Amino acid sequence: MYICLEGIDGSGKSTQIELLMNWLNECGHEILRVFEPTDSQAGRLIRKMLQNPNATNENFQKTLALLFAADRIILMEKIQEAEDEGKIVLSDRCFYSSIVYQNGAEWIKEINKFAKKPDIVLLMDIEPETAISRCEGKDRFEDVYFLKKIRNRYLELADKEDFMVVNANNGLNKVHDDIKRVIAHKLGM
Ligand code: C5P
Repeated sequence: MYICLEGIDGSGKSTQIELLMNWLNECGHEILRVFEPTDSQAGRLIRKMLQNPNATNENFQKTLALLFAADRIILMEKIQEAEDEGKIVLSDRCFYSSIVYQNGAEWIKEINKFAKKPDIVLLMDIEPETAISRCEGKDRFEDVYFLKKIRNRYLELADKEDFMVVNANNGLNKVHDDIKRVIAHKLGM
C-alpha cells in the first residue's frame, strides 16, 4: 500500500505523516516513510537548486523536472521493496508534485511514466494565507500569488485523479482524525 500526502508548503504534510505513521504503527503496521526530493545525490542537488531565488525561468524548471524524475527512479525501487515486504509506504509528495509545480506539460508525464501511482493520495488543501502564516520563521516560503496558482492546479488534478481532499485549514487533531477516517476506510480497518 503506497499512500502519498500532497499539498502546498505549510499545509502540514510532514506533521500529519508523523501522526499517521505513529497511529499505523500502533495498529500493528510496518511503515516506510519517504519524501521527495529524497536524500540521494540528485535529491540534494534539487534542494540546493530550490534555494536559488531566480528559480522561476523556464530552463531552470525543465532542469528541475528532469532531476526530480531521476531522483524518483531509486525511490520507486525502495517503495516496491517495502510493499513486497508488506509494509505501508507513507510518502511526502510524489510525481503529482512535478505535474503541479513544473506545470503539467505532456513531456513531464512522459518522463515520469515509470513512477508508480500511489494507491491513496491525500491532498492537504489549505488557504494560502494560512499556509504562509504557518511557514513564518522558516528560511524559505513562497508568495501568496504563487501558492494560489499551485493550490488551484492541485484542486483541478484532484478532480481528475480522484484524490481524497482533506481540509487542512482545521486544527491538527481534526485533520488527523479526518485522515484516519479515510485510511481506515481504505484499509478496511
Ligand atoms: O515539501 P517540501 O517543503 O520539501 O518541498 C520543497 C519545495 O520544493 C516546495 O515548496 C516546492 O516549491 C518545490 N517542489 C518543486 N517541484 C516538485 C516538488 C517540490 O518545485 N516536484
